[in-house]
Amino acid sequence: MSKVAIVTGGSRGIGAAISIALKNAGYSVAANYAGNDEAAQKFKAETGIPVYKWSVADYDACAAGIGRVEADLGPVSVLVNNAGITRDAMFHKMTREQWKEVLDTNLSGVFNMTHPLWGGMRDRKFGRVITISSINGQKGQTGQVNYSASKAGDIGFTKALAQEGARAGITVNVICPGYIATDMVMAVPEKVREAIIAQIPAGRLGEPEEIARCVVFLASEDAGFITGSTLTANGGQYIT
Ligand code: NDP
Repeated sequence: MSKVAIVTGGSRGIGAAISIALKNAGYSVAANYAGNDEAAQKFKAETGIPVYKWSVADYDACAAGIGRVEADLGPVSVLVNNAGITRDAMFHKMTREQWKEVLDTNLSGVFNMTHPLWGGMRDRKFGRVITISSINGQKGQTGQVNYSASKAGDIGFTKALAQEGARAGITVNVICPGYIATDMVMAVPEKVREAIIAQIPAGRLGEPEEIARCVVFLASEDAGFITGSTLTANGGQYIT
C-alpha cells in the first residue's frame, strides 16, 4: 500500500503540524498551500516536506495539483482536508463575498480535493479521507454563520461519503478541534482570547500537535473500522 499523503493548508498552523506528524509516521507528504509563499518556503526548508501551491476553492486547480503530487510521489492514499479560512461578520453585515469565500474554501474545497482522488482510492481498495471541521460547526458561533455552516457541511459530507466508501476500504472521518493556538486564533484580540480560554474546562488552548496525533491515528491501518465518525478535540468546551 502506498503511503502518500496530501495535507491541504499543510504549511502553516494545524496543517503544518499534521504534515510533520505524518512524515514522522513514515508517509511521503505533500503540503498544499494557497498563497503565502514565504511561509511555505520556510516550512519546506525546515522540514524537507515538498510544498504545492493551488487553491482548494478551484476544482481544476485541485485536479491538476493532485496530478503533480502523484507524478512526484505516487498514488495518494491519505487526504487531509485541513485548509480553512474565516471571514467573520455579524449576519446582518455579512456580505455575499464573505459567505461565498468561506463556503468555497471550507466546504467546496473538501469536495474539490476528495472527488478527483476518490476513483483511485476505490480502485486500490484503500483510502483515508480526514477533514478538519471545527467546534463551531457543531455548536454554531455568533459572527460566524458562514464558517459554522461550512464546517457543519463538512460533517454531513463525511457521514454520507463514509457510507459510500466503506466497502471499498476507504474510511472518511472528521475532526472537530476546539480553539488551537495558531495564527487564526492568535489574530483574535487578546481580550476575546482570554474570554475564550475561560470557557475551556481544560483551561488552555489546544496545541496543533494534539490535532496532528488524531490525524495520524485515523490515517493508520489500525483505524480501519472507524468511519463516518466525528472526533471532538476541544478540552471539554463542547461535549456532544
Ligand atoms: P491557519 O490560518 O493558521 O492556516 C490556514 C492554512 O490553510 C494555510 O496553510 C493556508 O495557506 C491554507 N489555505 C487557506 N485557504 C486556502 C485555499 N483556498 N487553498 C489552499 N490552502 C488554503 O489555520 P489553522 O491552522 O488555524 O486552521 C487549520 C484548519 O483547522 C482550518 O480548516 C480551520 O478552520 C480549522 N480549525 C482551526 C481552529 C483553531 O483554533 N485554529 C479551531 C477549529 C478548526 P497559506 O499559508 O498559503 O495562506
